[in-house]
Amino acid sequence: MVQAEDLKRELGKIIITDPVMMKPYATDASYFEGVMPLAVAIPENVEQVKQIMSYCSRNSIRVVARGGGTSLTGSSVPTENSLLLSMARFDRIIEVKPEDRYAIVEPGVRLDYLNEQLSDIGFFYPPDPASSIAATVGGSISTNAGGLRASMYGTTKNWILGLEVVLPNGDLIRTGGKVLKRTAGYDLTSLFVGAEGTLGIITRATLKIWPKPEATGRILAYYRDIETIGQAISEMKRIGITPLIAEFLDRITMDSLRDSRGIKFPEDANYMLIIDVASEEVAIEGEMEKARKVLEKYNPTELEVTRDRERMEKIYEARKGAYSSLLNQRKSMSEKVVIGDIVVPASHLPEALKEASAKLQEHNVKAALFGHIADGNIHANIYADLSDEKNMSDVEAFQRDLAMISIKHGGSVSAEHGIGLEKKELLEMEHSVNENREALDLMKSIRKIFDPSGILNRGKMFD
Ligand SMILES: Cc1cc2nc3c(=O)[nH]c(=O)nc-3n(C[C@H](O)[C@H](O)[C@H](O)COP(=O)(O)OP(=O)(O)OC[C@H]3O[C@@H](n4cnc5c(N)ncnc54)[C@H](O)[C@@H]3O)c2cc1C
Repeated sequence: MVQAEDLKRELGKIIITDPVMMKPYATDASYFEGVMPLAVAIPENVEQVKQIMSYCSRNSIRVVARGGGTSLTGSSVPTENSLLLSMARFDRIIEVKPEDRYAIVEPGVRLDYLNEQLSDIGFFYPPDPASSIAATVGGSISTNAGGLRASMYGTTKNWILGLEVVLPNGDLIRTGGKVLKRTAGYDLTSLFVGAEGTLGIITRATLKIWPKPEATGRILAYYRDIETIGQAISEMKRIGITPLIAEFLDRITMDSLRDSRGIKFPEDANYMLIIDVASEEVAIEGEMEKARKVLEKYNPTELEVTRDRERMEKIYEARKGAYSSLLNQRKSMSEKVVIGDIVVPASHLPEALKEASAKLQEHNVKAALFGHIADGNIHANIYADLSDEKNMSDVEAFQRDLAMISIKHGGSVSAEHGIGLEKKELLEMEHSVNENREALDLMKSIRKIFDPSGILNRGKMFD
């Protein structure tokens, strides 16, 4: 078997084998412990990525690609005897062309950094997962990340024009290109979006970029009842309002933000909605009024309308930091946070939210419910004590029931975090219940075509 030192001899100084230096790469943001990789490679250019993949393919060494390591499903943790391939040095923005609406970037570019640069010319790249401070272009493409602005702009898949990819055998391919439309054969670009690093290593991406909205405003609405949240969102969509962002938070989440960020929320509210409206300056007041009327109809305990930049920024940052704030609420260090991430059609939200809430009681698990609600996306941050067998079995039972709720309502067991190690059983379940096993078999066959020796992110997504 190839040893770490063989890799170092073959690939040189881009290989790290010192256990202390490798430690940060043994885990990602999920609750999975992970294992120490065989070695960590931090290549600087495409030639080196080709060399790594060709060597690993010839020697049957498993490879796990890594962007920011913010995966919540364990998709970027190393598994036994794998080489961890960090794309951290691929951090250049190569070209920005607003007149053609594209930017060419390397996969290690962090999403917030990209948007800081684009902001200077009045543009932005819409995908905005709450982890955008650390998440990278390559990682977010590979998980088809959603995030806060997906309500108006859709998920990452809508923003990828083309890719450069090193295949498991070391060959390099280019898919798509710089143009906004193209119908030239199969859409290979789409295959890599959401592939969780199982088909190839993305070394460059051409992204669609967009002018920043001229004006935005925010409504914060507080409710007692979980169903009303779903009803309000569903009505907004039905009458043609498309919020820029629409987030819902439950009481546990509000309390965690109060404790960690000092933000006060009304005490009598069990749930809140954060609705942002975007339009041209001349129309913004009217658009906000339309949204306010719908929210008012469902009897909020309180409602705040604001266009104050500082206040809006503070709440936005707090919402993005909700995962960390919720982590702070753990009883002990042995308690972890396992994440449910289902999606249902918006019109099914009232029922799905009620059912999810009831299942929490039934299984006696503690979880915060929140999510990108206009997309029909419900997150459950479940507190799980990995050392307590009974608690873990309750958590797993809840996850399965939550997944069944999504399937029953015509949604999916994974909205935006992907499958990784965490949701493999749920992916099987979705296809079985929907009598769609053939589609899953086809996915497995596609993976084999790209990676016949099964070296890329083995054990993730499906076995
Ligand atoms: C606090 C927090 C909040 C989050 N909020 C959201 C949210 O709102 N919406 C959302 O969708 N997700 C969210 N996530 C999940 C996660 O951050 C996103 O999926 C993110 O896009 C992953 O990016 P990353 O660079 O960290 O990828 P990583 O975790 O490093 O990798 C993710 C996957 O991509 C693969 N990969 C990475 N780089 C490449 C490459 N160059 N080529 C091929 N494969 C590659 C990895 O092998 C792995 O399978 C959140 C996570 C955290 C910790």
